[in-house]
Amino acid sequence: MDLEQIRQLILEMGAYRAGVVAVEDIDFQPDFRKLCENNVCGMYGRSWMCPPLVGEVDELIASLKRWKWAVVYQTVDALEDSYDFEAMMAAGTKMNRLTARIRRELTRRGVAPTLMLGAGGCRVCQRCAKLDGQPCRSPEEAIPSLEAYGINVSALAPRAGMKYINGPDTVTYFGTVFLEEGTAPYSR
Ligand code: SF4
Repeated sequence: MDLEQIRQLILEMGAYRAGVVAVEDIDFQPDFRKLCENNVCGMYGRSWMCPPLVGEVDELIASLKRWKWAVVYQTVDALEDSYDFEAMMAAGTKMNRLTARIRRELTRRGVAPTLMLGAGGCRVCQRCAKLDGQPCRSPEEAIPSLEAYGINVSALAPRAGMKYINGPDTVTYFGTVFLEEGTAPYSR
């Protein structure tokens, strides 16, 4: 599959929008990881895929730079109001389920193994093994977040041709599949 076919597949699978960015064009902001330390989402130190357990941000950024392309996608969901925390959590779970399905479908279609990033908190398991002092149950399926990798998502969105925020009383989440150099070039 080439990048455009992958982008179309992701849209058909339920993403609201999707676009392609060269990894060399991604804006990394390692300091954004400090926002995680405020623990607004309650997951800091409680998931193997969240800071600080997911790894040092500089090392994660370096690991991303081995990939050539990023296919970025988003989901947009309605909230009752801007305090609708339950709907926000449900939308994050929806994003990461979509991310897991995309990974399975790409693997089924023979696309080389890729790194997938999604919304914070991983959410692959009902309860992260970290909370029980156990190692990650499914490291191959675990989903770290774009923010954990120091990606400036508000800059990434317009580069991928989409809005970072999609209107009042909505929540937007982003996921990204990273692909290697050999994936057919995309016309930009
Ligand atoms: S796959 Fe399960 S155990 Fe591993 S980080 Fe995700 S939620 Fe935690």
